[in-house]
Amino acid sequence: MLPVIYSDEFLEHKTGVLHPEKPERLSAIATALRSSAFANQLEWRSPTPVEQTRVGASIERVHSQEHIKTVQRLAHRGGGYLDGDTPVSPRSYDVALLAVSAWLDGVEQVLATGKPAFVLARPPGHHALKDRGMGFCLFSNAAIAAYYALEQPGINRVAILDWDVHHGNGTQAIVENHPQIAYCSLHQFPCYPGTGKASEQGGYQNVLNLPLPSGSTVAVYQPLFETKVMPFLSDFQPDLLIVSAGYDANAADALADMALQPQDYGLFTEYCLQLTTRIVFGLEGGYDLSALAQSVVATVEQCLS
Ligand SMILES: [Zn+2]
Repeated sequence: MLPVIYSDEFLEHKTGVLHPEKPERLSAIATALRSSAFANQLEWRSPTPVEQTRVGASIERVHSQEHIKTVQRLAHRGGGYLDGDTPVSPRSYDVALLAVSAWLDGVEQVLATGKPAFVLARPPGHHALKDRGMGFCLFSNAAIAAYYALEQPGINRVAILDWDVHHGNGTQAIVENHPQIAYCSLHQFPCYPGTGKASEQGGYQNVLNLPLPSGSTVAVYQPLFETKVMPFLSDFQPDLLIVSAGYDANAADALADMALQPQDYGLFTEYCLQLTTRIVFGLEGGYDLSALAQSVVATVEQCLS
């Protein structure tokens, strides 16, 4: 069985009809998972309601009070924009808190069972900085989850692998000087947001950036998993692996220019599982609905095989 942490409430973060980070992304994934050959091996779980959790304290550990209040005020005033492409709708603040709750539930699930879980939530998080949201992201879900994991008994090191096509500038900025958190990203470069050079290695050599040229296929990615990603992660010996699972490096995706196929994400998942089964997968980007849904199916299928 594989837990999928999901709520229909995640559809209530409205971004506007022309925005690529739209609710239909989650619906497409949920439909594909429910009609897959392994649908009976999925355990759909609702995230813990925010009022029953430690979400507030966990976000405050990573984000400034000012940023949290800005998102809250904007939402409660009826909506607005954090930057040109990061809308906040009336329910976005509450939905973003529930998304954090889902990521924290993912951590708890994985630590309780020793097996992977998939967090099917939005808004995504890896561009959100300590004191501002950007790039469709309100709060830094992966970094918040990593900090939360480190508070759990026996958890001393957490690694984050970010295979979204964009560099997770927010995640990196938040964790790069934390010796107990490693961050590894494969991303198109140059591309939004402009960070993620190989020379950015963190305060403790705990950051590995693999900037890749546009047009990269699995023939570029696979050797890097073998020679760079897996050695880096395995040297760090994480007690938990968090995957910032974005699927916008697909050839079909309009937001970038990479050339992966959905099944390639099954291969990446296989590499991760060779390192550990304690993996929290959390959705980041991915904007071609069909490729996105097929890619999540490939990820989950590998976890169940
Ligand atoms: Zn992305």
